[in-house]
Amino acid sequence: MYIDAHCHLEKETYGDELEAVIERAGQAGLSHLIAVGASRVCAGAAEAQALAERYAHIYFTAGIHPHEAQHASAEEIAKIRGFLDHPKLVALGEIGLDFFYDNSPRDEQRSVFKELLAMSRDTNVPAMFHIRDAHPETLAIIDEVGLPERGAVVHCFTAGPAEAQEYLKRGVYLSIPGVVTFKKAEELRQAVAQIPLERMLIETDCPYLAPVPYRGQRNEPAYVVKTAEKIAEIRNLPLEEVARATSQNASAFYRLDGA
Ligand SMILES: [Zn+2]
Ligand SMILES: [Zn+2]
Repeated sequence: MYIDAHCHLEKETYGDELEAVIERAGQAGLSHLIAVGASRVCAGAAEAQALAERYAHIYFTAGIHPHEAQHASAEEIAKIRGFLDHPKLVALGEIGLDFFYDNSPRDEQRSVFKELLAMSRDTNVPAMFHIRDAHPETLAIIDEVGLPERGAVVHCFTAGPAEAQEYLKRGVYLSIPGVVTFKKAEELRQAVAQIPLERMLIETDCPYLAPVPYRGQRNEPAYVVKTAEKIAEIRNLPLEEVARATSQNASAFYRLDGA
């Protein structure tokens, strides 16, 4: 069994195929999907919630993506708080900093991130981070604001062993995307060789970042198996062990099915 710890299952992307995509995930051995709601400010979260209400094995998150920080009015932030009491809401995210694209001014990214991280801490809902080219500053914010007792995950972790160590020290999970199969991802593979298996999740972040051999195509949850295979190869472990450990971690972190 596998769990895709972070996927975007939006009608806008998959259209009428969405149902087939969810079905193929089941056929590939995925037991649960975490549908991320962090697009179009709060509209994405409402869509993810509706999906979670329709499928027993789909859970959801709500957050404001750093790309959209400039649209995060007090009213939108209050709406995020409203999602957190839903029985199938499993994390507050994506929240964080993206200094690669800089789609929102950095000051606004920082203030929205701090506010939502504080909300996660105060409500004890796990935090789900999106961090790109901003690891030192993120670590400083984590140390300043603190984490929820239930912890946090860096989704789509693609940095190296040094960054991994810093998050691990703070008890943060690292979620490994299909990027680990890319030719140029040598530093990430070095990190994956060292991260304790019990701190690792796997994800597709679909529809982007499809793993080899699907690279360049539209990604979907079923392909998370390719990421697990690569991790098993790097760690020289049976695939089933990677599948079991990452599923257990995701179940425990997100508290799926009473885990
Ligand atoms: Zn992200
Ligand atoms: Zn994402």
